[in-house]
This record gives sequence, C-alpha cells and structure tokens, in this order.
Amino acid sequence: MGNPFEYAPAPESRAIVDIAPAYGLFIDGKFTDAADGGRLKTVNPATEEVLAEVAVGGEADVDRAVKAARKAFKSWSALPGAERAKYLFRIARLIQEHGRELAVLESIDNGKPIRESRDVDIPLVAAHFFHYAGWADKLAYAGLWQSRTKEHSGPAPKPIGVAGQVIPWNFPLLMLAWKVAPALACGNTVVLKPAETTPLTALRFAEICVEAGLPDGVLNIVTGAGETGRALIAHPDVDKVAFTGSTAVGKEIARAIAGTRKRVTLELGGKAANIVYDDAAIDSAVDGIVEGIFFNGGQVCCAGSRLLVQESVADELLASLTRRIKTLRVGDPLDKNTDVGAINSAAQLSRIRELVEAGEAEGAERWSPAGELPGKGFWFPPTVFTGVTQAHRIARDEIFGPVLTVQTFRTPAEAVEKANNTAYGLSAGVWTEKGAKALWTAQRLRAGVVWTNTFNKFDPASPFGGFKESGFGREGGRHGLEAYLDV
Ligand code: NAP
Ligand code: MG
Repeated sequence: MGNPFEYAPAPESRAIVDIAPAYGLFIDGKFTDAADGGRLKTVNPATEEVLAEVAVGGEADVDRAVKAARKAFKSWSALPGAERAKYLFRIARLIQEHGRELAVLESIDNGKPIRESRDVDIPLVAAHFFHYAGWADKLAYAGLWQSRTKEHSGPAPKPIGVAGQVIPWNFPLLMLAWKVAPALACGNTVVLKPAETTPLTALRFAEICVEAGLPDGVLNIVTGAGETGRALIAHPDVDKVAFTGSTAVGKEIARAIAGTRKRVTLELGGKAANIVYDDAAIDSAVDGIVEGIFFNGGQVCCAGSRLLVQESVADELLASLTRRIKTLRVGDPLDKNTDVGAINSAAQLSRIRELVEAGEAEGAERWSPAGELPGKGFWFPPTVFTGVTQAHRIARDEIFGPVLTVQTFRTPAEAVEKANNTAYGLSAGVWTEKGAKALWTAQRLRAGVVWTNTFNKFDPASPFGGFKESGFGREGGRHGLEAYLDV
C-alpha cells in the first residue's frame, strides 16, 4: 500500500528502512499521483542520496483534497467525542509500535541524530495523540468558552471545519502531531502539506491512519513545495489555517487570508535568549546551553541561540562551554553516539554560512572545535561567536543552525533588556539557583515559553507559541484546543 508507482533499484537507505521509490498524494484515503504528474525528490541530507520521488500537489490536487475533507467533515464532526478518541488512541499506539521505523525514517529524511528522533521526537508524537485523544470527549470541560461567557452551560463548542495545515522540516512528524491531533480531536478534518525536504514520515503516517481505520477524507496529505502550501491556504473552502514556519512566509499568509472568514494560527521563528546568572550551577548551565543550541543542530524555532552570561562568570563559563563543545560528535545521524547531525538542506546550509560570514565581517569572533566534517552531505560545525553586539546581524536574525552568539550583562535589568531586544518572542531560558530571581526574570521576558534551569523541554499538556513576530495562537494542552474550536 502507499505506492502507486513502479519500483526502481533500491538505494542504500532502503536497505535500512522501508522507503518506496515514489509516493503519491494521500487524498480521500488513497494514494494518487498529482494531476499534472509533477514530482520532486527528497534526499538524505547526510549523504545527498535521493531517497524517493514525491508527488507535487497543484491547485487541482489541493481542491480534490479539500473536497474530500469537506465531505468527511459531516460524519467525522457528528461522531461522539469518545468515538473520535478511539481512532486517536489507535493512532497513538500504532506510532509507538512503529516507533523505531519512524525514528529511522525521520533521521534519514531530516538529518537529525537518531538519539533525538528515537528518544524525543517520536515519543512526543505519540504523547500528543494520547493527550488529545483524552480531550476528544471532554471538550465541554476545557474551560474555553465558559471563561468567555462566564457561564457553564450549553453544548460543547463546535469544530471549525476543514483545517489547512502547513508545516516545516525541522520536526516533521512532531509538527504534524501538534496540528493533526488537536484538529481531529475537536472534530475537524485536515489537509496537511509537509515541507518539501521532509515528506516521508507524513506519508508513513498516512499509512498508519489507514491501518487505524480512520475514515477516508478525515486526513489528507498533499506533498509539494511552497506553491502547494500557497494553494492550500488560498483555497476558499478552507476554514482554518495553521502554519508553522518562517516569519517571512507567516506574514505572507496573514496578508493572503486578511478579510476572509478563515481563522489562523501562526507559529513562526525565534531568537531565544538563554540567560546565565552568576549564581547558576555552571555545569548544568553548560549542559543546558549545549542542549539549547545544538539540539537538532540548532534548527529549532525555540533554540537558545543567544547566550547572555553575567560578566563575573563569563570567562569561567566560556572555558567550560568550549571544553564541552569539543566533546560533541558531529556526523552520521544513524549512529547513536552522534550529538549533532546534518543540516537539513543545501539551502539551509547556505543561509547559515551567509549569516556566519556576516558575523565575521561585522567584527565578531568565531570559534569552532577542530575536526573534519563528512565529505558528502550538508554539514556545519558547532560554532560560537564572542564579541557580539546587539547591532550584529547574528544577534538579530534567526540563523537556524548550530551557531551560538555570546553577550554579557551586569545586572538582571540589563539581562532582561537585552533578552527582549528582538523582533521575536518565542522562548527563553534562565539559569539561577535563586527561585525569586528566576520568577522575577521570567515575568519580565516577552517570550511564550520560559525554561528555568532546563531548556527545550516539551510536554503535550503545556501550551507553546509566541509573541511579537514569533506568531500567535497556542499549540499544546488545553489552550491548543481553542485553535480548532468555534468558541
Ligand atoms: P518556511 O520556508 O516558512 O516553510 C514552512 C512551510 O511553508 C513549508 O512547508 C513550505 O514549503 C511552506 N511554504 C513556503 N512558502 C509558502 C507560501 N508562500 N505559502 C504557504 N506555504 C509556504 O520555513 P522553513 O524554512 O521550512 O522552516 C524554518 C522556519 O520555521 C524557522 O523560521 C523556524 O523558526 C520556524 N519554525 C517555527 C516553529 C514554531 O513552533 N514557532 C516550529 C518550527 C519551525 P516548502 O518546504 O516546500 O518550502
Ligand atoms: Mg529530505
């Protein structure tokens, strides 16, 4: 199932995990080719090996998918929540059962270390489906519309309709889960467009939904490039747009749907400060800084990409940090000892290079540990910039790579001022042994998530989302339901 095309000779990755040479679009419960036969190739960024060809959905295909979702909406939304929950629980369990395979597939298509896909991404994907399965029959008790009307009466809030969802490549299956699980739990139907460079786990997920017996048309996956996403968002019969990606595209989407009845949530970029006070436990702070910026090679919207360290401990911290970075293993994503994998695409690698060169040109000091990078594939070494000022591009623009900028501060007020001096507002970190100082700082940081003495910790029960140019709307937890209900 899943492959309407003939087989080609199997390349290397197909010996490790089941990958069809070509995939169709998943519409109305079946895989079909794109109307105009368009295809794109997805590659393994660690080797540049072509993994598979994937159909490119055009306007006609998006239209077919939206029609299928519309048709399915009637019966799906009429199902009692407890019945919808059964499907979601089944999907969650199947994700666990296929966990190893999904982790390998994700690492091969994305370039992330297997330790991350196996121990973080895929378990979180299952956890999201379990979490929202649990909500499906309790929507009336989510406290969403009571708080608006000040009364607890009337029927449960209604689903919005057909959700058009567009996701990025950095956490392909997890971003799908963040969007699909709450949408379906609330009774919506979905057309989802994965990122061009990482379509494979979404297509495998479609097969899992078939295995779970999910009714045809409830979930549709239309692969393709930016144009496919644009067509989905522009489709007049989409009721709700959910987008995760860059701020530039987010702005374009906000413009495109302005004045329409469509509801929208945007999860965009970030430039998180990671603040280390002089009373912090230096060893744990170093671990948290490394986790903050080198997890998924820094290709993380909430990455702790700006280290702000109190001047009195800056030298000690930096010495310890560089020692630690020298021990990081960069290389084969499928090796379980790898700490930093490949950069997802040639395009992303050139963006990282451009910003790093700008950093040097503007006078910041660049450091990376000595060591060879693999000859093939897309790689960038862990990198630290010192001598950074607020005016530097590397301190302002999202790099989305394994690149840390370091600035110092003297007082807590200065730390907060520097941390908030950004167009973004997605996340931040605070390292201190004093609870009062952590709270004082967190209350003043304009960021959707503030981690204290930890970083990049996720939980499906906890809402996630940004302020300012990091977008609006929340995903996760009870708050994440609001995006998919007519409250
Ligand atoms: P992107 O270029 O904005 O792409 C995101 C998705 O939108 C992809 O599926 C892309 O398709 C599609 N797309 C591109 N142009 C479009 C258009 N005009 N209309 C509709 N869809 C369009 O972002 P990216 O480079 O893939 O991802 C990195 C960005 O995502 C970073 O800025 C990061 O901070 C942000 N991000 C945010 C969160 C969050 O929760 N806040 C989470 C993860 C990532 P193609 O793949 O074919 O280009
Ligand atoms: Mg790929």
